[in-house]
Order: sequence, then structure tokens, then C-alpha cells
Amino acid sequence: MLVMKDLCKIYRTDTVETHALRGLSLTVDEGEFLSVTGPSGSGKTTVVDLAIGLLRPDKGTITLDGKPLQEVDIQAWRKMIGYVPQDTILLHDTIMRNVTLGDPTLQKADVEWALQAAGALDFVATMPDGLETVVGERGGKLSGGQRQRVAIARALVNKPRLLILDEATSALDHESEDAIRRTLEDLSGRLSILAISHNRAMVHAASRVYDLQAGTAKLVDTSGSTSFSK
Ligand code: ADP
Repeated sequence: MLVMKDLCKIYRTDTVETHALRGLSLTVDEGEFLSVTGPSGSGKTTVVDLAIGLLRPDKGTITLDGKPLQEVDIQAWRKMIGYVPQDTILLHDTIMRNVTLGDPTLQKADVEWALQAAGALDFVATMPDGLETVVGERGGKLSGGQRQRVAIARALVNKPRLLILDEATSALDHESEDAIRRTLEDLSGRLSILAISHNRAMVHAASRVYDLQAGTAKLVDTSGSTSFSK
């Protein structure tokens, strides 16, 4: 689906040039659960920004379904992407509005579908006001894991082709993170997942793993039990 080939990206300021990517190649296949891991500064965020068309590479090509990304309607492409950041800010509003962000075209059934897919419908159903439950300031009435599930539902509600998670479970306790990993495993096949993660559990759940080191990507052999070390 998305093919990144031989990408170079240099960030330039008046005095410094940072070679963030140095000939990186990476593919995201239709319906796969891909994980990208690597130390801080290795280029993970740059890869995401290039994939969603926020940045252009200095060298190399990015194609979507065989078409160069610069020829693709970038707004249409972004609508096909659901993004889950590390720290989700929830509105001091209902679960419903936190998922729809006020989009009037989204119906209750769409929100219930997204919550279900994000593994959140069960806990929402136990709340006295269900979808109309107000989550509190910054979502304070929910646990961290519950907030991240609402964030995943928000990213899924428009039925994206690609779900990008940017260290989305790194602040969670083990149990919540494990539950979200299972949710992602269930979702894979229905859409493509690109999970940026330091986390081993997430890495092991993915169908393919790229390890980023100094702006290049290496496909990790996950077939053996001890092939991945960090
Ligand atoms: P990661 O997400 O793996 O931490 P990044 O893609 O954010 O890596 O960064 C890769 C390299 O590019 C780092 O050395 C970082 O300092 C540098 N970098 C990232 N964004 C900018 C920017 N806007 N201006 C200058 N340097 C940047």
C-alpha cells in the first residue's frame, strides 16, 4: 500500500544540518500490523510525518498504491488515516463527543462501532449515562487505558485505511497496554496498523517489525524467539 524507498531527510537550521533519514526504505502492506521501533532520535517521527505528507523527503520516493505521494490528493489521504498520539487530550465532554469531535455526520451507531473496535464499548456500557457520560476534565474520570481506548475509537470512527499509533501505550500500565495490544491484534487484517513503539509486547504482536537506527530501517526477523534485542 505505502512504499517508502531510499528516503533521505535533512532538517536544516541556520547553523545545523541534521540527517534524520539516511536511505531509509520501508513498506506498509494492506491490512498488516507493522511496528517501528528504535531509540530516540532514530527517525521514527520523521517516518510518520513523511507517510502522512506533512514533510517531503530530500531524496527517495514515497508511493501510495503505486502513485507518487506528491500526486495523491493529500487531504483525501489524510482522511484515510487515524492517528493516536502518545498523550491524548480528552475534552471535558461526553464520550460521544470525544469520539466524534463534534462531527455531525457521525451517528450513534458509528460511535458504538468504533468503541467496540477499540475495545471500549464494554466499559462505556457500564457507565450510568453510557455514551452521554461526561469524562471530566482531561478525561480524569477514566483510567489511562480507558482514555487511550477512547482515543483509538476517535481514530477509528472514520473507518481509516491506516491507523498510526505514536508511542500510544508507553504511558500505560502493563494490563491496559496488554489489552490494547490484543485490540490491535483483533483489528489487524481489517486495516493497516503502523505502531511506533519502544515496547516489547507491541513489537512481538506485530506481523512485521522495523528497527530504526540512525536514519535507516532494518526488518527484524521475528520468526525466532530471541531475534529481537534492544
Ligand atoms: P524519533 O522519533 O525516533 O525520536 P525524530 O524523527 O524525531 O526521531 O528525529 C530524528 C532526528 O532529526 C533527531 O536527531 C532529531 O533531533 C532531528 N529532528 C527532528 N525534527 C527536527 C526539526 N524540526 N528540526 C531539526 N532537527 C529535527
